[in-house]
Amino acid sequence: MRIDIATLFPEMCEAYLSESVIGRARQSGAVEIGCRDIRDYAGNKHGRVDDKAYGGGIGMVMRPEPVFSCITDIMKNAQAQNPPKLIYMTPQGKTLTQGLVKELARERWLIILCGRYEGVDCRVIEELGFFEVSAGDYVVTGGELPALILADAVVRLQQGVLPDESAFKDDSHWNGLLEHPLYTRPETWRGRSVPETLLSGHHANIEKWREEEAVRNTGLKRPDLL
Ligand code: SAM
Repeated sequence: MRIDIATLFPEMCEAYLSESVIGRARQSGAVEIGCRDIRDYAGNKHGRVDDKAYGGGIGMVMRPEPVFSCITDIMKNAQAQNPPKLIYMTPQGKTLTQGLVKELARERWLIILCGRYEGVDCRVIEELGFFEVSAGDYVVTGGELPALILADAVVRLQQGVLPDESAFKDDSHWNGLLEHPLYTRPETWRGRSVPETLLSGHHANIEKWREEEAVRNTGLKRPDLL
């Protein structure tokens, strides 16, 4: 899978994408991820990519042309019959869920646009046919954190990134439930003991315990999911 992130803060994204699981996935070649600076396409010597909003107001808006030039440059070698999926991170988009992550993880190439200021001129979103995705019903200052959440969530589902499929199939939200509670050593900590079943070494019983606890945990913390 290939992912390109179009942003005004490429170093911010690189810092996250170079570490830990995602950093190793890039190094091993399991995924190819690049960050592109929209300011390089500003078309003026000051690197300005924003302007005042028509209709007034204090906030600035990202101009359509730098965004258009940046995205079309990233896409310049794309095959016409197999174009990348263009995603604009916006609080107005479809809320990101594990179901949507699974769908997007099947794409061959994602280009993710991060907005700043009051957002991006809507005409370039329409012109290029962006699919709009939201990280949740709240507003943050820029699209970088939402884009990194999306990139991280799809990358960890790619083959060769985690040790095997159980590493993500046992996680919360994979099958609509939350994961069972987790324990590690010591066996007793501040008077709280690990459930006997987990110490028994009986795999079938442990599996049954985990399934039941996943349902119980979901009922306690997220009854809306049941
Ligand atoms: N004025 C915009 C609105 O009300 O829809 C919000 C602008 S926000 C301050 C600046 C940028 O942050 C957005 O263009 C978007 O890229 C990003 N952003 C903010 N909240 C987001 C969210 N919940 N999900 C995805 N992106 C978000």
